[in-house]
Amino acid sequence: MPANAPTARSILHVDLDAFFASVEIHDNPALAGKPVAVGYGDGQRGVICAASYEARAFGVRAAISTRLARARCPQLILVEPRHDRYSEVSHQVMQLLDAWSPIIEQVSIDEAYLDLAGTTQLHGSADRVASELKRTIKGETGLTISVGGGASKLVAKIASGASKPDGLLIIPPRDEAAWLSTRPVSEIPGIGPVAQSTLRELGITLCGQLAAAPDDHLVRRFGPHGPDLKLLARGEDNSPVDTGDARKSLGRETTLDEDIADPHVLETLLLDLVESVAYSLRQERLLARTVTLKLKDTEFQSITRQVKLPQPSNLSGPIFEAARALLAKAAQGEPYRLIGAAASDFTSDEQLGLFDKGHTERERAVTAAADELRARFGDSVIRRARLLSPEEES
Ligand SMILES: [Mg+2]
Repeated sequence: MPANAPTARSILHVDLDAFFASVEIHDNPALAGKPVAVGYGDGQRGVICAASYEARAFGVRAAISTRLARARCPQLILVEPRHDRYSEVSHQVMQLLDAWSPIIEQVSIDEAYLDLAGTTQLHGSADRVASELKRTIKGETGLTISVGGGASKLVAKIASGASKPDGLLIIPPRDEAAWLSTRPVSEIPGIGPVAQSTLRELGITLCGQLAAAPDDHLVRRFGPHGPDLKLLARGEDNSPVDTGDARKSLGRETTLDEDIADPHVLETLLLDLVESVAYSLRQERLLARTVTLKLKDTEFQSITRQVKLPQPSNLSGPIFEAARALLAKAAQGEPYRLIGAAASDFTSDEQLGLFDKGHTERERAVTAAADELRARFGDSVIRRARLLSPEEES
């Protein structure tokens, strides 16, 4: 490398392994070693949110229906989600990450990027930081993480995925192109099942083949931006680790393993995301005025829709109602490969008072009643009442 070449960035991607399922197994060791899934009911609209590695061996994964999961794995142990617990553990993990870099981007409840710029003097190499993170998080939470590292977020993410579970894989900058060349294109975030099958028709299944593909083939099949896929296949990604301004927007999104068209399954996934967003708002003592829905279709098009709330809120109920209305308008049965929810346009609840001006007497009573029910019967009672339709209860 010439002396004046810019130093490669050093980025880690940290991902908790089978997060919801691992929390359940940690909290109930009797589940260890068994096929466990976290998800909702066996009715028509039941959906899996997370699966242990033992369950994954049977083909059980996030975003498939609970019926399909049961068919694939009759001995599956289904556990109702406890979102407050997952948010609590997530918060604990993110606080542990804080000690290792000031530049951290939390991308979902169980994933974050760290930019290690300027931390080497203090903490040592990316390898050392990654090992220490694994040790600390295991020690403090009992959970395993997988850590990937590289000069871009893209490479770090693919490396953590390749190392799972309980993995550690740092790709040195000069090895990135060669390492990626033998990885399947399906590991590139954003290349979903439809794009994969289009690429397969062109004889492309590996990143190395995509990187070498003629531009005109990609333009013909993917449009004018098709050749950009080659950059991804080479690991070229300049996107910064975005610490965001915690006070600008707070969002969660889920990339689906299979494209999902069923509006009710999308709605259930959306409720999960909203619960997590609302919990984080309450943790940060923020109220949001604006709710954003994000969808990505099978052609990589992002769709975002926003709406103002009638009152600033950090409760799941009003945020979910707003997000659900956006979803009903935006999604009309087309398949999607990503769904996200975000809250923005904040006001501090210290200014407004969570239970003062921001919410009506009725909302306050309903929340208190819901908290009471949650305390007695668990989170699922509330969700069931909201999601189940009469035909499903029969
Ligand atoms: Mg994970």
